[in-house]
Amino acid sequence: MNRVYNFSAGPSMLPESVLKKAADEMLSYEGCGMSVMEMSHRSKVYESIIYGAEELLRELMNIPEDYYVFFLQGGASSQFSMIPMNLMNKNNKADFVITGQWAKKAFSEASRYGQTRKVASSEDAVFNYIPKLDKSMFDPEADYVHITHNNTIYGTRYTSLPDTGKVPLIADVSSDILSEVIDVSKFGLIYAGAQKNMAPAGLTVVIVKKDLVGNAMDFTPVMLNYATHVKDRSMYNTPPTYCIYIMKLVLEWLKGLGGVPAMQKINEEKASVLYNFLDSSDMFKGTVVKEDRSMMNVPFVCPTEELNAKFVAEAIGAGFVNLKGHRTVGGMRASIYNAMPREGVVKLVEFMKDFETKNK
Ligand SMILES: *Cc1c(COP(=O)(O)O)cnc(C)c1O
Repeated sequence: MNRVYNFSAGPSMLPESVLKKAADEMLSYEGCGMSVMEMSHRSKVYESIIYGAEELLRELMNIPEDYYVFFLQGGASSQFSMIPMNLMNKNNKADFVITGQWAKKAFSEASRYGQTRKVASSEDAVFNYIPKLDKSMFDPEADYVHITHNNTIYGTRYTSLPDTGKVPLIADVSSDILSEVIDVSKFGLIYAGAQKNMAPAGLTVVIVKKDLVGNAMDFTPVMLNYATHVKDRSMYNTPPTYCIYIMKLVLEWLKGLGGVPAMQKINEEKASVLYNFLDSSDMFKGTVVKEDRSMMNVPFVCPTEELNAKFVAEAIGAGFVNLKGHRTVGGMRASIYNAMPREGVVKLVEFMKDFETKNK
């Protein structure tokens, strides 16, 4: 069977061994005579999957005891509303750093529920950098500060966290969760849609400091209230059972590799293969300032639109798919999440070199 190198920004590649294991267990999970898709979420066997997944995630990310972990639906985008409804509860104010479209969406949705402020933005340069931030820029009265930790569309990431003093820091980590070591205790809340680095689409992971939960706005729908999910450990209603199962397999795979520190090393090496080539090429150029480059999403361009289109088309022919840049940016983008093997990046670079030589 021929598998392609899939550089999709999301949903994206899953580890092949995970897909194979899921295929093996499709008809009968651990001898129980049914697929995980078919089983009650209230069954003992399913409880071992969902609680096992939570335990593994806590272990791999070193999540402190005073944090809840929720497995929800609605995507990262639902968090754009859930966060203000649940957390904009003291002074009804929040600060935002605008580093791309996802940050903008989070900002505009939160603006419906309280007083929001743009602390800094990199829109002046098509979001190709992370603004410099210092403590004096943040409102000490804000209920939280929101950042997008890795900018999937523009290919930037925070390499250090802003000092927000006593104000809880909230981060959208949809496109870089589990890709590098992060210190969860530095955040009030982090959240991620699973379809970039963890599981199929349909699952959203929220990790939140316990003392921030329990003061949602009065009108908050029961399903959008974090307190609901505390009480029933993500099983108030039917959770996305199969996605959670696949996530558990992905976490087992990650643990087998040596956990997040080992994954980070692999990712740094993978990303440097591509960036080193971009820095040496006369045809292909990275679009992001060097110090803020993402390890997960690598945007780049050729000198002309014709060459961009030709490259994308020929890449597909050679088995490198989904390299076309986001519709709002153009050019190319290679998303090289955890599941992309090093070999995929090395072969892509060989293909780019070859393309450059032939199109000089
Ligand atoms: C993909 C993505 C989203 C949107 O996620 P959905 O699960 O589709 O709502 C939000 N933020 C970031 C950083 C993303 O990469």
